[in-house]
Amino acid sequence: MGKIIAVANQKGGVGKTTTSVNLSAAIGAKGKKVLLVDIDPQGNTSSGVGIDRRKQGKTMYDVLIGEAKAEEICLHTEFQGLDLLPSGMELAAAEIELVDFDHREAILRAALAPLRGQYDYIFIDCPPSLGLITTNALCAADSLLVPIQCEYYALEGLSQLMNSVRRVKRQYNEQLEIEGVLLTMYDGRLNLTQQVVNEVKKYFPRKVFATVIPRAVRLSEAPSFGKPIEYFDRNNKGAYAYSALAEEILRLNA
Ligand code: ADP
Ligand code: MG
Repeated sequence: MGKIIAVANQKGGVGKTTTSVNLSAAIGAKGKKVLLVDIDPQGNTSSGVGIDRRKQGKTMYDVLIGEAKAEEICLHTEFQGLDLLPSGMELAAAEIELVDFDHREAILRAALAPLRGQYDYIFIDCPPSLGLITTNALCAADSLLVPIQCEYYALEGLSQLMNSVRRVKRQYNEQLEIEGVLLTMYDGRLNLTQQVVNEVKKYFPRKVFATVIPRAVRLSEAPSFGKPIEYFDRNNKGAYAYSALAEEILRLNA
């Protein structure tokens, strides 16, 4: 059974999508079967693995409102071991439409259940909010990966995120764990960065990944070519970092 890992932090721009795309591709490149689930209406994960949002048919929106099965919308990417459940802009409406559904928090979990046996890892790229869609991801997940940008106010909002995690654990998903906290956009030349790293380690003892993701321009360029960094510039420091993170996660779960 594949492990389901939600990549979540309600702050925007902290590296959720960059991590979802590049970590999934890196694990796929190491011979595992990986499914990437895009539930952000912006669809940057889908375009980041070369899936054109305008051309695709049904999306995770149709799955969440019960109009399609996840198996039906699942797409192979051109990258080794990597499949995608694409998002679309309509997903923004799901947040409201789902409110009246029965077991509205557990829809994603039920939708992913039939696919679970076919993958080693399933990564869910969450939108930048703590609404019903993110709650669905937390209910569906075995664990949570939290990217944190090395900047001022890095810890801001984390107590709300952890409150959501506690609530989900209490009400729906007792087994939910923290896979790890990932420091992103790391710049070792800045004193601030080291302060942030220390604060984050204090806040999440023993949960911070040994691998940190450096700030790397190539990581921000790759999405416009629809390619994970592994296939765009594999000798870049960003590619090395995501490959190291992939190994760290495989080791933690061995
Ligand atoms: P989120 O999904 O949390 O909103 P993104 O992954 O989209 O965040 O990242 C926000 C922006 O920062 C994007 O433009 C992305 O290309 C850029 N970015 C993310 N990680 C890095 C990094 N390690 N180095 C340089 N740019 C990065
Ligand atoms: Mg994103």
